[in-house]
Amino acid sequence: MERTVIQHINDAKETLFSFELLPPLKGQDFGSIQKSIDPLMDFNPSFINITYHQEEVEYETLASGLMKKNVVRKRPGTVGISAAIKFRYGVNVVPHLICGGFTREDTENALIDLNFLGVNNVLVVRGDPQPGMKSFVPEADGNKYAIETVIQIANLNKGIYLDSNIRNSRSTNFCVGVAGYPEKHSESPNMDSDIHFLKKKIEAGANYIVTQMFFDNKKYFNFVDICRKNGITVPIIPGLKPISTMNQLAIIPKTFNVELPAELVKEVIKCKNNEDVRQLGVEWAIEQSKELKSAGVPVLHYYTMGRSDNIRKIALEVF
Ligand code: FAD
Repeated sequence: MERTVIQHINDAKETLFSFELLPPLKGQDFGSIQKSIDPLMDFNPSFINITYHQEEVEYETLASGLMKKNVVRKRPGTVGISAAIKFRYGVNVVPHLICGGFTREDTENALIDLNFLGVNNVLVVRGDPQPGMKSFVPEADGNKYAIETVIQIANLNKGIYLDSNIRNSRSTNFCVGVAGYPEKHSESPNMDSDIHFLKKKIEAGANYIVTQMFFDNKKYFNFVDICRKNGITVPIIPGLKPISTMNQLAIIPKTFNVELPAELVKEVIKCKNNEDVRQLGVEWAIEQSKELKSAGVPVLHYYTMGRSDNIRKIALEVF
């Protein structure tokens, strides 16, 4: 039986190590993801998260000058690759499940597949608006907010399926993580509102929170304080992403609503090339990790974005 994230945290004597991977691009095989996993297995990850990617709309200019709309799914296979990682490495996996592109029945079916595969950890997120769309649009019979998927899973954990005619159903045993935003979610009018809805996700049955990346630990400590003052008592796992390219100075704040500290920006600007930025990112993340570890965070969770050489350098210093 797979161990849940919460069991790992409850049994731990010190800060655990975990990381997040993207599924391979369509056309690639298991080998492409193995290259990212192998260098990190020395640090005994408690679990590995695998992101979920909705289909994207791309426009192609035809010879006639007209535009053709193409719908592409660049990284399919989250459920399959999660199971493959679990069985090949004997490690617990946490596939992400999004609302975007899923009807409620698709969501239930994905959970049934995971249950058959013995995967009982999931991280539930809504998904971002599709590129080119101003706001998030759910499927006609899909979940609009992450909390609705959390409720669906809480029901399955009680043996309640969408079809109320099902008799003698078995209960699932999913442990559910949800996302939290130390600098507030970009669409939220203010922190109070974001915390209000975060608390609702916990009350609906989520077991722990994983944070959006942050580059200043004060943002995480402050967020934990706010959560605790608002009665959110579940573990809050910090998510860390080492900066790795110059253009992330513009991309990260815009895409993730995350501020980069002045000192970090000053150092990035001094770098001669992206290799230097990648090394600076490693050093910055080592400092962040060491401080968080001394503060007793339950897990240090790293966003690999598909390349893990930098995470290995950090783990060598921290674990
Ligand atoms: P929700 O919890 O649904 O919240 C979305 C917004 O609505 C927030 O502003 C919230 O305050 C507000 N809100 C919530 N409930 C209500 C309500 N009932 N009424 C009104 N407002 C409400 N994206 C992917 O596509 N794939 C991934 O694999 C993925 N993994 C992620 C992992 C982590 C750890 C994090 C932090 C993010 C991840 N994301 C992923 C991005 C995520 O999908 C986006 O940040 C998305 O915009 C919000 O997701 P959420 O689950 O926080 O949404």
